[in-house]
Amino acid sequence: MAWQGSARRARLPKNWALIRRRVLRRDNHECQTRFSDGRLCGAPANQVDHIEPGDGHSMANLRALCAWCHARKSASEGGHAAACTRVRTERPKQTHPALED
Ligand SMILES: [Zn+2]
Repeated sequence: MAWQGSARRARLPKNWALIRRRVLRRDNHECQTRFSDGRLCGAPANQVDHIEPGDGHSMANLRALCAWCHARKSASEGGHAAACTRVRTERPKQTHPALED
């Protein structure tokens, strides 16, 4: 088993493969990410995401995502609370790496 020893694998239920297939079929293999402008991503989905991170494997807590959206969500989950309270400020101008000393 490729994921043997992984903590993530241990948290998934025994019938995860079945659940995963069911979620992808329910969502028509389309990414369910809703962008801030209201559009649905709709890209071909091959991943299943837990809407609320954790151990809830109910169909209501699962949705199909494309690899890109899933990676983006996973990357942002850690700093999400901080990002929600952060005050938006002007980003400092990037300097070209060649110009840095
Ligand atoms: Zn997507």
